[in-house]
Order: sequence, then C-alpha cells, then structure tokens
Amino acid sequence: MTNERPQPNQPSPLTPPEGFAGACAEIGIEFEPGDIERLGRYLALMLEANKATNLTAITESDHAWLRHIQDSLTLLPLLAELSQGSRVIDVGSGGGCPGIPLATCMPHLHFALLEATGKKAAFLEQVVERLALTNVTVLNGRAETFAAFKSPHREAYDVAIARAVGPLSVVAELTVPFVKMGGQTLLIKGQKAEEELEAAAGALHTLKVVHSGTIETATGRIIVLDKRVATPRTYPRRNGEPKRVPLR
Ligand code: SAM
Repeated sequence: MTNERPQPNQPSPLTPPEGFAGACAEIGIEFEPGDIERLGRYLALMLEANKATNLTAITESDHAWLRHIQDSLTLLPLLAELSQGSRVIDVGSGGGCPGIPLATCMPHLHFALLEATGKKAAFLEQVVERLALTNVTVLNGRAETFAAFKSPHREAYDVAIARAVGPLSVVAELTVPFVKMGGQTLLIKGQKAEEELEAAAGALHTLKVVHSGTIETATGRIIVLDKRVATPRTYPRRNGEPKRVPLR
C-alpha cells in the first residue's frame, strides 16, 4: 500500500455500529488492522458523493454498514480458497458493492470493477485512489461489450460476482461469459432467490452453467453457479438485449 493517510479534504470515516466486528466474525469474516477504518472511509466517500451522484438509497450509517459492507463481505468466505493473484470481476459495481469491501479485506486477490455509468465509474476511480487500493482496476463500459467473443476479458476471471444488477436470467448472461472454465459466478440475491432460480432454469441451460448451491447468509442469499464448459460464443447478446429480452 502507498499513501493511506486521510487527506485534509476527505470526509471523516464512518464508525461501525457496536458489535459489528463480532457479528462479522461469527459468519467467518475476520478483519486485519486498518480494514475497518478503510471501510469507514469508503462509506464516508460514498455518502459524500451520493449528494451529487445517485449511488445509494441507504444513507443512514448503521444501515450502510449492514447493507453495503456486511452484505458485500458475505462473499468473503466463498473467495477464501482462491490463490494469490486470482482475478475477480464485479459486474455492475455501481457505488462499489460488493467489489470495494472485498478488495479492501482481500488484498491478495485482484478485483476488476465493471460499471456502465461514467459518473459511477469516476467515483470508483476516486475510491481506488483515496484508499490506495492497488489490487483494483475500474472498467467503464457494458458487460455485453467487455465479455463479447474475442474480448480479452472473456473467460479471463476466476470468479464473477454481482449484486442488484437484475433478475438471475439477465445477470447470468452478463457474468458467466467472464468466468474461466472451472470458475464460478457468485450472485448476492434476496429472499426471492428460489423463485428466480426456477424462472432462470432455461437461461442457465442455454449458458451451459450449473447451479451448484444457494447459501443463506445473515443479509440474504448467495447463488453459486459453476462453469464447467465454455459459454456459447453468441452470449452475451448485444448491448441491452439481455435485459430487454431475457433468456428463457
Ligand atoms: N452492485 C451495486 C450494488 O449492489 O450496490 C450497484 C447496483 S445498481 C442497482 C446496478 C448497477 O449495474 C448500475 O450502476 C448500472 O449502471 C450497472 N449495470 C447495469 N447493467 C449493466 C451492464 N450491462 N454492464 C455494466 N454495468 C451495468
């Protein structure tokens, strides 16, 4: 890490609610010294930037620690087996969840944060610079373009992750093409995970990806998709098509 000191023009870090670290430890999330302070600085930057750019509807501090930090970190135990330098892509990263909290706590992994909206990508660049996150790259553009056949990003990541980017059939088409054979897609979902899985059975079959489990967490559910064979080259379809006409 290079310069991690707060700069004079930075907002003060937010403090987590009492018992936050203990609650996280109970679900397998351990922090190194400095992690909580960096996460608090990230939330402060997000809430400050939210005044000008719409990044989040959650503006109350304790709620933000739960819904943004803890919810993002529920993926941490599932990434724990990845070796040094493994590559993870957060598709539709928005204000940086789940990618930024994970990158903060897992400096041995490399995270690409892909975001279509220029203003949000600019905010992510600012966070990377302010927190001196040397293990993060911000990509500004659409998943359909970045994962297209012959793109260097296609089948280049060990794991793709996403939260709140759309129904399962849509987000699977936008994430699975990024994953190497033998890799996984991990999707943070809510209480409707089972319904979404039922509705997406045809899409998962078309994308040749297998649902290998659903994990219940303190804040939601994680859908795990295993990629064992290459994604057919016609997926993802052109910009906007996965959302406009979801796979069935
Ligand atoms: N993942 C963040 C979270 O959970 O807070 C942001 C969720 S926000 C509701 C969805 C984000 O996905 C938006 O910022 C949007 O611009 C981005 N997005 C949607 N479709 C995309 C695509 N095809 N490629 C890249 N980004 C996309």
